[in-house]
Amino acid sequence: MTTTTTETPVTEAARRTFRKSGEFHEQARRLIAGGVNSNVRLAADPLLCFSKAKGSMLVDLDGNEYIDYALGMGPAVLGHAPPFLIEAVRASLSRGQLFAGQHEMELELAGLLHECVASAELVRIGLSGSEMIQTALRVARAHTGRNAFIKFEGHYHGWLDNVLVNLSPPAGGSREAVPYPVHLQSSGQSALAASEAFILPWNDLELLRRFLDTHGRNVAAILTEPVMCNTGVIAPRGGYLEGIRELCDRHGIVLIMDEVITGFRLALGGAQEKFAVRPDLSVFAKAMGGGFPIAALTGRADLMRLVDLGRVNHSGTYNANLVGVAAAIATLRHLMAADGSALKAIALAGRRLIEGIRKVAAGKSANLRVMGYGPVFNTMFGDDESIVDYRSYIRTDVAKQKAFIKALTLRGVRPTPRGTWFVSSAHSDEDIQRTVEAVGQALSDIASS
Ligand code: PMP
Repeated sequence: MTTTTTETPVTEAARRTFRKSGEFHEQARRLIAGGVNSNVRLAADPLLCFSKAKGSMLVDLDGNEYIDYALGMGPAVLGHAPPFLIEAVRASLSRGQLFAGQHEMELELAGLLHECVASAELVRIGLSGSEMIQTALRVARAHTGRNAFIKFEGHYHGWLDNVLVNLSPPAGGSREAVPYPVHLQSSGQSALAASEAFILPWNDLELLRRFLDTHGRNVAAILTEPVMCNTGVIAPRGGYLEGIRELCDRHGIVLIMDEVITGFRLALGGAQEKFAVRPDLSVFAKAMGGGFPIAALTGRADLMRLVDLGRVNHSGTYNANLVGVAAAIATLRHLMAADGSALKAIALAGRRLIEGIRKVAAGKSANLRVMGYGPVFNTMFGDDESIVDYRSYIRTDVAKQKAFIKALTLRGVRPTPRGTWFVSSAHSDEDIQRTVEAVGQALSDIASS
């Protein structure tokens, strides 16, 4: 699906109207709490309602097209509605929805996870990243007999009470004064559940080491995104993840890698393959199902064996339902084919996009920065050279970022509201070229507004 217009993008942007999306949301607010079904979606500006998607393109109710870099918040790693994936799901539907018992495809998926992810000695299938993080924490507590866990400032591990803390706290106080006060992100959240989290800054091994020298014996798990994808797509400093691994070994702490975004995106074996660090437990979701709901907890056999009758409970009516498992099998097989060529192509396309964005920004002397990797990166505005953690990220210009994302959306390019870009195998050379042009125009828009 390509835009057939020959008009300049400036006219095209001016021509876009959002009347039907606006009407939809007026009605939605009357029937759906807040008008959306995931709070994250409230950040979008303009607030759109979509009618369909194919490949790299999304279409809204008013017929506007968008080159989509939100990809359902990351999952659609092969683009929207790839025919082989839809066909695999269709084939599974003729066999039923779910059995409250096992089916053969579960074993096939477990085998694929085991093959792709070096640390996946045993697996459990679930539905969402949020719940599998909870299972991981439960396993860590059962294994260590300890309750507390370390959660880093700026990381996101789902919306549940104990982990929805310090994602975007007001950053006051001394950087060194760890653990930081727990900042609840939702009203109604249980402060008691959240009190089990020790909050530390990410990417500071020395501070973590000192903290664990005092508190290590109380810590069941260190929970970390291997790349801080939920704040700025910040890379781990050289040796940082390895350092966490060593500290976990020294203090008998379970290392849980949250690969919900990085898994089956940064590499077939996840960020743990890219950085050659072996976690004890890992959580996968998003790209694993190519856009269908499925997640997995994987890890060390001795830990995973705790998930058993009378021990660690992990349950769920919809776990390993046929559609999700069929989608994950088709997605993983596609990603594994031809020596992992799909992910390599995505990384290459993403790097070209990053280079194009940097070049066009430099040409306009804009202080636009790009951080991250080809398959997932973040754009932000700021002059501070060193962005290594949450506190350095929030010195960037958030108002300018919002204006930029809005200007891009109006020009038919859609990153996530927080400026994260996910690249899929459906993004063509032409998409990338058009995106870079739109970035240049959006930068002019915000400079003149
Ligand atoms: N962990 C990370 C790193 C995530 O980015 C997310 C979702 N954005 C989650 C966990 C929660 O996953 P889900 O939305 O599937 O519950």
